[in-house]
Amino acid sequence: TCEFGYEKAWQYYETKMEETRYWKRQLGYHITTGLTKNEFYLEYQPIVEAASGRPLLMEALIRWEHPTLGRVSPGRFIPLAEELGSIVALGRWVLMESCSMAASWKEAGHQNLIVSVNVSVKQLLEGKAFVQTVKEVLEETGLPPSLLELEITETVLMSKEGDIKKTLEQLEKLGVRLAIDDFGTGYSSLTHLNTFPVHTLKIDKSFIQNLPHQENNKAIVSSLVTLAGQLDLRSIAEGVETAEEAAVLKEKQCQGLQGYYFSRPLPAFEVPAYLQRMNPGTTFP
Ligand code: C2E
Ligand code: MG
Ligand code: MG
Ligand code: MG
Repeated sequence: TCEFGYEKAWQYYETKMEETRYWKRQLGYHITTGLTKNEFYLEYQPIVEAASGRPLLMEALIRWEHPTLGRVSPGRFIPLAEELGSIVALGRWVLMESCSMAASWKEAGHQNLIVSVNVSVKQLLEGKAFVQTVKEVLEETGLPPSLLELEITETVLMSKEGDIKKTLEQLEKLGVRLAIDDFGTGYSSLTHLNTFPVHTLKIDKSFIQNLPHQENNKAIVSSLVTLAGQLDLRSIAEGVETAEEAAVLKEKQCQGLQGYYFSRPLPAFEVPAYLQRMNPGTTFP
């Protein structure tokens, strides 16, 4: 077991490169046991319709609170879980948890609210087994497939391993939606993009920063929104932090907006009150 604090542990992990294998194994072990000890939980960050301000989707974001390591950010443990293979079990848990939550929101009257779930390339490479997992989760939770959106990064589309395209097509057959996360950072070609069953483009937050003052970013965002429209995809901007950024995105006709300006990721228990506040008129039991 680990007797260091979180920061110290990570310093150690990052500086003693010769011992990374040991640390990786340690953390890998912590991830696996953390799953059985309920150390993981999800927060949900709204994506609102630009025109109305109403929530269209809630993105599930994983959190980890380890008893001695403390809070470890997904940016740190997800890549490791991917490398070690524990992402498959972790990802299955995320799907089950988020879909059952979304089913309860629907039950409470939010008929069209979609949950979006980040999916790693390692999960998609499971192929049929992953499709089966998604199918089982939908059956068990009773969530309609159309209310589940899977977020994959642009680089996944370029993966030469396995048959990602076939897997995505099978997922589309189930009726779930597909979003490209961090769009604009992965250099995928447009003709390539068009051959995948994608519904949504999430424009990477690096293009949103300082929007009113950054002519380059303004031009990029403008063309990405136009591209989405021409491919008949929904456009979403992530990382919107200011009213000025939101105003530019609205002017450019970006359809969905997400970021601290609208809401931070919310703990699950705060979501019902948030939804009720944003959608007056829906009934809660
Ligand atoms: P992502 O899917 O691109 O998620 C967006 C990240 O930006 C989240 O960080 C979110 O908390 C943060 N964010 C939201 N609004 C703002 C804003 O206005 N400004 C800035 N600067 N940041 C904002 P988080 O939660 O730390 O997640 C980081 C990444 O970890 C995610 O990036 C995603 O790639 C991955 N991740 C999170 N949860 C899961 C999961 O359940 N499964 C998998 N495979 N990956 C996950
Ligand atoms: Mg995401
Ligand atoms: Mg993103
Ligand atoms: Mg991102």
